[in-house]
Amino acid sequence: MISASAERLQQVDLVIVGNGALGLFLAHELTERGAGSVAVIGPSSSETGASQAAGAMLGCFGETTTESLRTDASRTRFELGVAAHDRWPAVLEGLEEFSLTGRPLLSAPDTHVVLNSIGAELDTVNYQAIRAALDEYEKPWEEVDPHDIPGFNPRLDTRSLSAIHLPAEGAVDARGVLEALERKLRAAGVHFVDATVNKLVSSDNVVTGVELDDGHVIEGGNVVVAAGIQSEALVRTVTEDIDLVPTFPGLGFAMIARRSGGDPFRSVVRTPNRGFACGLHVVPQGGGLEYYGATNRLVDSVSGVTWMADVRFLAQYSMQQLDERAASHEVVQWLSGNRPVTLDGFPMIGWLPPAGLYLMTGTYRDGFHCAPLLAEHVANELQGKPGIIDPMFSPTRAPIATRTVEWSISEYVEHNLAAWFETGAEAAPQMTTPQIAEYYRTRCVQLYDQLNIDYALGPDILWYAQGSLRGARRVSRYLRKHRGNSAPQPQSVQVGSGDAR
Ligand SMILES: Cc1cc2nc3c(=O)[nH]c(=O)nc-3n(C[C@H](O)[C@H](O)[C@H](O)COP(=O)(O)OP(=O)(O)OC[C@H]3O[C@@H](n4cnc5c(N)ncnc54)[C@H](O)[C@@H]3O)c2cc1C
Repeated sequence: MISASAERLQQVDLVIVGNGALGLFLAHELTERGAGSVAVIGPSSSETGASQAAGAMLGCFGETTTESLRTDASRTRFELGVAAHDRWPAVLEGLEEFSLTGRPLLSAPDTHVVLNSIGAELDTVNYQAIRAALDEYEKPWEEVDPHDIPGFNPRLDTRSLSAIHLPAEGAVDARGVLEALERKLRAAGVHFVDATVNKLVSSDNVVTGVELDDGHVIEGGNVVVAAGIQSEALVRTVTEDIDLVPTFPGLGFAMIARRSGGDPFRSVVRTPNRGFACGLHVVPQGGGLEYYGATNRLVDSVSGVTWMADVRFLAQYSMQQLDERAASHEVVQWLSGNRPVTLDGFPMIGWLPPAGLYLMTGTYRDGFHCAPLLAEHVANELQGKPGIIDPMFSPTRAPIATRTVEWSISEYVEHNLAAWFETGAEAAPQMTTPQIAEYYRTRCVQLYDQLNIDYALGPDILWYAQGSLRGARRVSRYLRKHRGNSAPQPQSVQVGSGDAR
């Protein structure tokens, strides 16, 4: 084993850059295996990180959309979540004694998915996709009367007309889990370095360690970059000559409020994924607290700010669609974080060309949930054992293609319509929905012309490229380099009606 100084850490077997869910769960997996000295480096505030802002729904089937099982690639991605789900009971059992919250880390054991009419057809088809996926994977669920969901008290004009109960899919207290993990790891001798890594250090094309922002160097037998949305920039400090799938910050906002009265929520209550985001949801936190989330907007650069539009969005729609009484709840914590979103929507997990360097990121909206599974996979690979997830998630892959351009345009239109109706946007009264759809279709066709690409993008990346010249240039530059490299995958199983497409 390589030695570590008690004064100022000099060397460890493994340096993990990033103290979010991925970094911490990897350190946890390795210490459980007794795998040598480990340092986790990251600023203790973690303030722009995704994990500290997560609702931490252990969402798998509740996250299903019409896209989830449509191609072999997305099915493989979906099944990461299915496999991850099974890890959580043991994870929580091992963490509970290190928790300081005084409440169970499993903050909600189950989920209700509600279908209301404020969105658009996208809600309906994704709702159907959830039910179909539950049936296909033989998971328990039942139809329930929305009136019977504890805490659920929407305004009458946005009431839910249908709801299902997922008894085996809940949520954890994200901040409680992170804190318990850190305490457990410290007790096990993991080195925590409260600093930012300035750059990776290499010699003869081998990554040998990291340089901190004050110039101090920590050497590592291997370096794992798990720095969320900062990972790509960090990898580029060792070489620009690496063909990484680009990542974009998915800035998200959520809030934790103290209930002021009325029946509390006892389960996660959520809509299906809709309108470029992860659906509106409330996650009970225990102790009279409830997490309301979450917005998602792709932005040019990482920040800890919250858009005023997002504050309005979340507050207003929580009051309308979840609980009228939320208006008088007391917000005790504002959370914002940056999801690591890859251009093709798939995670990036694997060794990189400079030897000694491993990347784990790109988990977008379910990285908290998938972290224990990914940690197991990465620990295997670091120890020279076979991995447990598909090698298709290699960070230097060609972008994974799951749709045609025509499909992508239709999807973009559907997401915009969902956002249009949910946000209460108004057109001239005589304007019909097909006319609004046509407007978005035309804009999207123009965007593809401008980007001059043959790869079909997801709706969130299109939305971003539409509004950001910098983003559009980045997307276009990368994809032109990969032109012709990524033919759409064959469609395997069609989930949901798909009629809206
Ligand atoms: C509002 C919101 C809600 C979400 N809800 C859910 C959910 O319900 N369920 C779910 O599974 N997922 C959810 N997610 C997604 C999930 O949070 C992410 O996929 C996951 O947490 C990513 O973990 P990570 O460790 O890769 O990144 P992060 O959590 O971003 O951690 C990276 C860490 O690296 C540190 N770092 C960055 N640069 C450096 C550097 N140069 N040197 C050292 N350290 C550095 C950062 O400070 C940060 O702490 C949500 C995300 C957001 C924003």
